[in-house]
Amino acid sequence: MATTAAPAAETATDVTEITDVVVIGAGPAGLTAAYTLAKAGRRVTVIEARNRVGGRTWNGTVLDDRGREHFIEIGGQWISPDQTRLSALVDELGLETFPRYRDGQSVYISPDGTRHTYTGDRLPVSDHTREETEKLIALMDDLAEEVGAETPWAAARAEELDTVAFRTWLHRHSDDREAIDNVSIYVASGMLTKPSYAFSTLQAVLMAASAGSFSNLVDENFILDRRVIGGMQTVSVRLAEKIRELGGRILLETPAHQIDWHDVDPDTADPLNGIPADVRDGVSGNGSSGSVTVHATGPDGEVTVHATDAVLAVPPNLYNRIRFVPPLPREQHIAHQHISMGLVIKVHAVYDTPFWREAGLSGTAFGGGRLVQEVYDNTNYGPYGPDGTTAEDPFGTLVGFVSDVNAEQMWALPEEERRHRILSAMAEYLGPQTMEPVAFYLSDMAAEEWTRGAYATSYDLGGLHRWGHLQNRPTGPVHYACSDIAAEGYQHVDGAVRQGEAAALAVLAAQDAVQHTGQHAGLHAGQGDRQYS
Ligand SMILES: Cc1cc2nc3c(=O)[nH]c(=O)nc-3n(C[C@H](O)[C@H](O)[C@H](O)COP(=O)(O)OP(=O)(O)OC[C@H]3O[C@@H](n4cnc5c(N)ncnc54)[C@H](O)[C@@H]3O)c2cc1C
Repeated sequence: MATTAAPAAETATDVTEITDVVVIGAGPAGLTAAYTLAKAGRRVTVIEARNRVGGRTWNGTVLDDRGREHFIEIGGQWISPDQTRLSALVDELGLETFPRYRDGQSVYISPDGTRHTYTGDRLPVSDHTREETEKLIALMDDLAEEVGAETPWAAARAEELDTVAFRTWLHRHSDDREAIDNVSIYVASGMLTKPSYAFSTLQAVLMAASAGSFSNLVDENFILDRRVIGGMQTVSVRLAEKIRELGGRILLETPAHQIDWHDVDPDTADPLNGIPADVRDGVSGNGSSGSVTVHATGPDGEVTVHATDAVLAVPPNLYNRIRFVPPLPREQHIAHQHISMGLVIKVHAVYDTPFWREAGLSGTAFGGGRLVQEVYDNTNYGPYGPDGTTAEDPFGTLVGFVSDVNAEQMWALPEEERRHRILSAMAEYLGPQTMEPVAFYLSDMAAEEWTRGAYATSYDLGGLHRWGHLQNRPTGPVHYACSDIAAEGYQHVDGAVRQGEAAALAVLAAQDAVQHTGQHAGLHAGQGDRQYS
């Protein structure tokens, strides 16, 4: 499809662009959408608030006290075998992956503080705790199969499951505190990064179903399988290069602050509040190609982008940062207030060597309810061999996670005390050498204005069955895409890729419909001369 694109009208500082599709957010979802559209011959403009692409995937380096740089992945990094859309994209972009190191014994600390080493995927717990753990996992597997990931809000027992906190559900089905704490890790502190009393059983079931089963979630060798050589952000960096090669534009440091998405019918306005009925009750023709204008603030002034369709690819907790003109329908105003980010600190500790391996340890460690509830060997693989050949980094890296209320407590401490407390907790698993990293860094996505938490968003208790059906419904010509509203790959980069592709395909279908009927709704004044052929 060719389009007539009016030349960009520019003043000294302000920029106005006309394009086919405007994408807001240059994370994996937005960039996948833009890439899919650009490959289909559409002109795309991507508007990104940060000074980089990748969103919650971000490569960084930390310096040690001798000035040496160490590579870390501040955000998302692991790929599991079920994440086939991401894996296919990684291949398409010419990237390679490597497996997480997992040879040797793992460590488990039981609730009484006893340290155990073990091999295999079964925690060294009493027979009763094992039976109870397996029972809970089997119940969750059944629910995941029954409910599925696509439309959990439509499941027969959606309301029943969505009005019971996951913690309550676990206690209803088991009296074994250790089993409950360990099963809780896999969804609460380990995934949604909220306390298990703060979200529903339906939300937990969605998390499991999105990974294929609850058994997949509890298997760290499945869920934390491989990493991209060069870091997960490289997926977004490569996507951005491809988009630019195809003529697309990516405007960094340009947060969108307003979306004009619909021409209202003033005759339907409420006599008192002035809000047109066609908006407050939800518009007809959602998802139809029409006219949308995005206003953003760039480094050099205001940026205005006119398009026929938009993809809003930001996490749902940030929708409220954007003014919609006219305002969004009532139900979305309400729904968006019941979606919030979790909180987790990703801990990076770099050592001269992966010393734990010498003790026969894999670096994998768990402790339900402990300050650092999981630890893994996160040693890098990349250009560390002779002459930059690909090899394992001689420095060893551990990654650990401090979740929800523990994370709040840690951020409230002075820096040195926080570091000491976190390293001490990791040392309980892997020994006193853990206390002496050459480099140490805590990922702090909660402090980042354009994310505000980690890993992702979820509904509060009862929210998923009430509003989940709205999350992927376009608003006029505005389509939504984000890992946080994905089915398969929910809260993961794979889900972001699936969402980006789905939004792009929906836009293409809407534009094709316009092409066939020759109609499109509600173009703004001045754009009526756009042609589609
Ligand atoms: C610490 C951490 C660890 C994680 N670990 C994993 C993992 O191991 N494996 C995995 O698969 N996933 C992991 N994730 C999750 C994964 O990173 C996300 O699911 C994924 O990045 C979501 O992609 P997205 O494009 O949907 O959203 P994002 O990556 O959040 O991208 C959204 C983009 O929108 C931009 N934006 C926001 N508001 C505006 C605005 N108003 N105007 C313009 N731009 C805006 C943001 O700056 C951002 O670039 C992790 C996340 C975190 C934080």
